[in-house]
Amino acid sequence: MDYVEIKELIVFAHHGVFKQEKELGQKFVVSARLYLDTEADVIKDDVDSSVHYGEAAMEITRFLQAESYNLIETAAGRLAEHLLLTYSLLRKVQIRLAKPWAPVGLPLNEVAIELSRSWQPAVVALGSNMGDRRGHIETALRALDRNKSIRLLTSSELIESSPYGVTDQEDFLNGAVYIETVLSPHSLLKYMQVVENDSGRVRTRHWGPRTLDLDLIYYSDLIIHSEDLTLPHPEMQKRDFVLGPVCEIAPNYVDPRYGVPVCELLARLEK
Ligand code: ATP
Ligand code: CA
Ligand code: CA
Repeated sequence: MDYVEIKELIVFAHHGVFKQEKELGQKFVVSARLYLDTEADVIKDDVDSSVHYGEAAMEITRFLQAESYNLIETAAGRLAEHLLLTYSLLRKVQIRLAKPWAPVGLPLNEVAIELSRSWQPAVVALGSNMGDRRGHIETALRALDRNKSIRLLTSSELIESSPYGVTDQEDFLNGAVYIETVLSPHSLLKYMQVVENDSGRVRTRHWGPRTLDLDLIYYSDLIIHSEDLTLPHPEMQKRDFVLGPVCEIAPNYVDPRYGVPVCELLARLEK
């Protein structure tokens, strides 16, 4: 990917855990690599098809001076996200934030953090079997769209399905949405749970009736087994009401566990 690089911009700001760092401030040195969308046509030689580095340097300065974080890790992460959200041509931002005059009382050259943030593809499955099912799903899609760290790419048709696991309940309406996000998988899941709760969801029994269920099916090609998040969603390959809509919106999405496109998982299930 092409990138615009800003090297060793000096910004006087107030990040740090010590009182004197917050009050007196100090110099920070920032370098940024701004990776452009491959669709961006830098050959056109006009600034609208790239990122104006003068403006970006101003934006970096403004952002670092407007906030006061304890950690340079946080400052760098927030700055990277801010740039991704400010310049729509950016796919990825890499930041190096150094504190050459960190007050640690030792003769070191600098302390620094280097990190990158990018827009990542993800797939969310939606389901409802209580009340205004279509209304709950449409409200959820709007809530995802409202979050500026999430962009909706494609959403599927909604389909009727019989309840899975616990069968003595109403039929479901199911769908899926293909998104891109700068949120981490855990932050995305947390936001999805806020949206579920806003729909009035009450957790009674596992696999029981619900106004809204949002499951994170895929996040990039990540495989995660943590206490509160499993990726890809561990049951999805057994569920036609998930595979159908996902195959509709993201037919070529490769399942990182099986190494095959999601439509192939649907074909295997139907066999
Ligand atoms: P299922 O996950 O089998 O579809 P469910 O949707 O009824 O069942 P919930 O009660 O909605 O289950 O969620 C239980 C927990 O599952 C959540 O608190 C969440 O932390 C966890 N979880 C783990 N992996 C995922 C994932 N990929 N997407 C959504 N929730 C997940
Ligand atoms: Ca579910
Ligand atoms: Ca769920």
